[in-house]
Parts: sequence; C-alpha cells; structure tokens
Amino acid sequence: MSSPIAEILSQGDEVVGGEIVDTNAAWLARRLTGLGFELVRHTTVGDDLEALTAALGGIAKRAELCLSSGGLGPTCDDLTAEAASRAFDLPLALDPVALAGIEAHFARLGRPMAAINAKQAWLPRGAERLDNLWGTAPGFALTVGRCRLVFLPGVPGEMKAMFRHWVEPDLRRRFALRPARSVVLHTVGVGEATLQERLAGAALPAAVRLGFRALGTENQVKLQFPADFPDSEVERAVLGARRALGQAVYAVGSGADVNLERVVGRRLAALKARLFIVETVSGGALVGRCAGRDWLAGALVLPSPEGLPTGLELGTHSACSPLVAAEQSGADYVLVQGGAALGPNTVEGHFTLFGRGARVHETRVVGGEPSRRRHLIAALTLDFLRRRLEALVPGERAPEDPQASRPGGFTP
Ligand code: ATP
Ligand code: MG
Repeated sequence: MSSPIAEILSQGDEVVGGEIVDTNAAWLARRLTGLGFELVRHTTVGDDLEALTAALGGIAKRAELCLSSGGLGPTCDDLTAEAASRAFDLPLALDPVALAGIEAHFARLGRPMAAINAKQAWLPRGAERLDNLWGTAPGFALTVGRCRLVFLPGVPGEMKAMFRHWVEPDLRRRFALRPARSVVLHTVGVGEATLQERLAGAALPAAVRLGFRALGTENQVKLQFPADFPDSEVERAVLGARRALGQAVYAVGSGADVNLERVVGRRLAALKARLFIVETVSGGALVGRCAGRDWLAGALVLPSPEGLPTGLELGTHSACSPLVAAEQSGADYVLVQGGAALGPNTVEGHFTLFGRGARVHETRVVGGEPSRRRHLIAALTLDFLRRRLEALVPGERAPEDPQASRPGGFTP
C-alpha cells in the first residue's frame, strides 16, 4: 500500500520576498510525514489571484491532500478563498455561522468589528467551515475530485491549533494512514561519500530508502522502511547497515537527545569512572560540550597547543602539570587533546586517554575554516573517547598502548 500524496501551499508576498521564513510549511510537512503522507512538493505564491488560482488547480490534479496556510484575513491582499472559488468554480457564499463567529470574537474583545471583516465569512460554496477558536479567520476544507484541500490561517499559532483540533482527526478518518518507519544511524568522523560506499556492503533490500544528512559535526544515515515492512526485516537491515558502517556509528535511533556526550556518559557510568579533560586546539568547544555532566571531574583549557605536540609530554611539566590537577580532581581517566598546525587551514589533533593502567593514542588531521575546525576537532576527540571507552567496558578488551603508563596515577 503506497502513502497518499500531499502538497503544501504557502501564501503571501512576505513569504515569497523572504521577509517571513516559511515555518508553517516546515511544521506542516513534519506533521503530515509523521501521519503517513508522502510529501512531494511545497509551493509558495505571492498575493496574486491568477497565480494562486493556477497553483490550486495544479495541486488538486496531482495530490490527494493540499494543505494551504495564509491569505484568509480581511484585507485586499488576502485572496485564498477567492482563488479557491475560481479554481474550482465554486461561487463565494456568505456563511452566517462564520459571520456570527467573527462578530462574537470582536464582542469578546470589546472592540467594534470593521465592515471588511465580514469578507472572512464568504467561503466557496459547499466548503466545510473550520471554526477558528483562536483568532478571526475561519478556515475551510473542500473535496475536489480525489483531492482534499484544507485552508488554514497564516498566523502560526492559529494554524497549529486548527491543525491539531480539526485537521488531524479528519485526516485520520479519511485516509488509511500507515507512517513509514525510519531509523537514524548517527556517525562521527567519516564523510558521507565513504558512508555510502560502506553501505554497499550491507546489501539493503530495494524497498529501503536511504538518506544522508550532515548535521553540525555528525553525519546521519537514515533508513526509511515501508509501513508494511516486517519488524524482523527492519532489525536485520539495521544490523547489516550498522556492521557495514563499523565503528563510525555511535548511536542508533532518532530523537533530540541523541548525542556523543550522552553515549560517553553511559560508558563512563558502566566503568564507574570520572574524567578529567585537558583541551588545547579546540579552544573550549570540547569542554563546552561536557560542562555540567556529572562524569566530568574537572577540565583545563590551555590557550596554545605549542609545546604539547602529542599531548603525551604533559607529564613532564613538573608540579604545575595539568596531570597533577587531574590527579587531585579524583578522576579515573584523563583525556588530553594536543595538536599542531600543519598549514594555514589544517590542524593535526592528538588525542590521548590514560588512566587505570591503560594509555591509548590517536591522531586526526582536520581542515576548514577556524570555527568549523574547532568544532570538528572537539567532536573527533569526544568520538575517540567514546570508542576507547567502548573497548574498556567489561567483557571487551582495551587496545593497549605498549608504552602504557604505570597503574594508579597520571603523573610520572
Ligand atoms: P490574518 O488574518 O492575520 O491576515 P491570514 O490567514 O491572512 O491571517 P497572512 O495574512 O497570510 O494570514 O499572514 C499573517 C501572519 O502570519 C504573517 O504576517 C506572518 O507573520 C504569519 N505567517 C503567514 N504565513 C506564514 C508562513 N508560511 N510561515 C510563518 N509565518 C507565516
Ligand atoms: Mg492576512
């Protein structure tokens, strides 16, 4: 069973001209996708009757649902009802209940109603009125052929309230909706092109839709499964993708609370350990991400990476060594980030983790403009920590550095 096709129409000169960011379309698109519609197009049209009429006619031929926002107000630039009337040959008619609702709204506010507000009560013949309990402009809905068209006000608060109150329950009744399932694999440190190459080895079923998204310092791989895809097949595909992508995957799942800091926190909790951070090249971005976490025993951000070419020499700095501070903080592990400039826009980061008898080290070269470099190095340091802690969690062996420092302390 395929998903019903939906399109979104946004209206207004301010939206076309960029004075207003079209947050309505983004919000509606997410809601409709979540319900199980397939969103294929967003259209934005200015306050132009001809263009609006043409846009509505086109959408009604292509889609099974059109959600429009804006242009329902009383002024001469609010043209949506008239455009719908022309596009579908449905003359405008005064809806007395809509008029009473608008009059009641002004009465509640204790303000006189301007005569032009009555315009909002003129709806295309046969339209179902959607009362606006949150403002003046009533919305309306029409069915034209196989397309359901719903018209909502542009003011975001009113549009959202009306969507939740009227539209969503109506759509659930009208359409047999089965939302697609999607699983997001979060990765750090590997480029999108390489991720796609690696996924070739997973031999994912043809019905799985693959998406890539760079978000800040991470790259997300999204697997979208048809609604009727069996659970066991979903599990097998996710496992296959995870194996193919390897250690780059730090978490699987969606939700705003998925991030490297949380994953690191869980690993440290499993090890009953706390961490001290010495940061250099990322200039505070790393400690900024970890500040306030209960697993952070303390941190130092050193202004210059010079003199710390590998991070390993830290221990030789006598009594003022950051490692003395680390030891005094009671931390079980110390994460040291050193680095060296390789060129004008290139930095080599050196990451070292030591404590509880183990010492592991890794280097990564990062390019780009300074702010991007700082955030990327911070993310890569955190990801190094995540992978190394994973190897230390009971049941798995830590990859040991042959020159591991003595157990029981960080200072030489
Ligand atoms: P009104 O009765 O206020 O005229 P309306 O339904 O005619 O309501 P518009 O005039 O198109 O809506 O827009 C009213 C306000 O709502 C705009 O000034 C803008 O602040 C906001 N708005 C309109 N469309 C959008 C949109 N697509 N995204 C975000 N905000 C919007
Ligand atoms: Mg308006």
